[in-house]
Order: sequence, then structure tokens, then C-alpha cells
Amino acid sequence: MSPNDFIITFWGVRGSRPVPGPETVIYGGNTPCVEVRIGKRLIVLDAGTGIADLGAKLLQEPGPVCGDILITHYHWDHIQGLPFFQPFFSRGNSFSLYGERHKSFSLLDLIKTTMQHPYFPVPLEKLGASLHFTEIMPGDRLDLGDGITVGTVANHHPDGGISYRIQYGAKSCCYVTDYEHGSEKAQALLELCAGTDLLIYDAHFTAAEYPQYQGWGHSTWEEGLALWEAAGAGQLILFHHKPERNDEELAALEGSINGQYPKARAAREGMVISL
Ligand SMILES: [Zn+2]
Ligand SMILES: [Zn+2]
Repeated sequence: MSPNDFIITFWGVRGSRPVPGPETVIYGGNTPCVEVRIGKRLIVLDAGTGIADLGAKLLQEPGPVCGDILITHYHWDHIQGLPFFQPFFSRGNSFSLYGERHKSFSLLDLIKTTMQHPYFPVPLEKLGASLHFTEIMPGDRLDLGDGITVGTVANHHPDGGISYRIQYGAKSCCYVTDYEHGSEKAQALLELCAGTDLLIYDAHFTAAEYPQYQGWGHSTWEEGLALWEAAGAGQLILFHHKPERNDEELAALEGSINGQYPKARAAREGMVISL
């Protein structure tokens, strides 16, 4: 891998809950997890069930595994894979976890709880890897070192959440999921996404479905296209697919935008994008 590589791999693209089965083999049934590799650096966006397969792959690579895990928010579909991330169990591996600060609990306590008796047999204290926890506020700018910075804005979503822009030199990608359009937060998001090479966006609903789900904290395919155009972004990946939407329906939706928007696609598990 060359130091200037910026490669994004999708390990989980499904919203709300995992949906394995014959109807989701093409687009995938795991919940959100996106791997970003910049040179030798590893950044993981969300820890849904997709992170388990990412973990298995990382263990096949030589040397200790080190990385930054950026969590958007703490709904189950975004953290449920953490206890099953195998690199956590080995000494020598190290990870920094980032998540939104809340008044009523700490990030450390929240992750601890998900792995405590009787939910999981191995408590956080017994993990081999060294883990660091950093609480952040929307609007913070993170410096991950090696020239990698991360911009953040607040999501419009029940229980909060954060959207991320990962920037390395002139290249960037934005990760915007569990985000309902049409609030006073829209301007900050537009500024975050301006000119990005890759916009990954919450496309849980279609515009036709949206009215009956207003307030659920999710956006639409059409709003994704609108933000992508307004932000002057490069590629658009529509993400966090509704669990009830099967492969056939997703392919039809994707087909309906292909002609007009060749740089817009639906996220699929296993999809790799090199910037
Ligand atoms: Zn979600
Ligand atoms: Zn959510």
C-alpha cells in the first residue's frame, strides 16, 4: 500500500438491524461498518455487525493491528459488532475509540456495559488490546496524525450523533448516516461535505416513503442526490438501507438513478472505492 492510498471498503451497509438471508445477498445484511485505509493508517467508521468480518480480515494481516474507530452514535446497529471484533482480544493491538459526549453516561461506561455480564462473557477489562476512549462534541476537529484530520457536525437524529469528514491532503470522504434532512443543522452539514470526493449518505427511505416516517431520524435517496449536487461532491454512495428493502428493490432503485447520475450508487457489502 502506498502512503497516498485512500481506500474505502464497505463491511456493513444495512440500517437498524441485521438482515441475513437469500433476499439480501447482493447488497448485504450487516449493519454499518466502513473501513478507511490511508497509507498504513486504519480508520473504522461505526461498529455494526459488519465489523466482525473486518476484524477477521485484519487478523490475517502481518503485525499488530492499530486503528481509530469513529462511532456516529450508540444505537444498536452502530455498536453491536464491537464485542465480536476479534482484534480486541489480542495483546499488542491498540485502538482509539471516538464517540459523542453525553451528560448522562461516558463512552467508556457505555462500551463496558455492552460487554458486561450477562450480555457477553468477556468483560472489557479482560481484553488483550489496549483501548483508548475519547469523547467528542459535534464541531470538534480531530487530528489523527500523519496528516489525517477529521471534521465533525451534529446529526439530526434521535439521541444525537455525529457526521464525519476524513481529510488527507486534497482527498476526503464524508460519512453521513442516521441523519434526517430538513433541520437547522443542514447548513453545517452542507459545509462539511463541500467538495468532498466521496459522500456516504443515509438513504434509508425514498421520498415516497418518507412522509409516514418523518421524525424517525433518517433521510432519503432523493435528499442524498440533492446534498451531493449542492455540495459539489465527487461520488455518492447511498447507505443505511432499510432492512425491509430486498436486493430486487434496491437494484430497481439504483437502476432508476443510474442514467442520470452515473456517479451515484447504492452501498454494497464488499464494495471498495479508491480515491
Ligand atoms: Zn442506524
Ligand atoms: Zn440511529
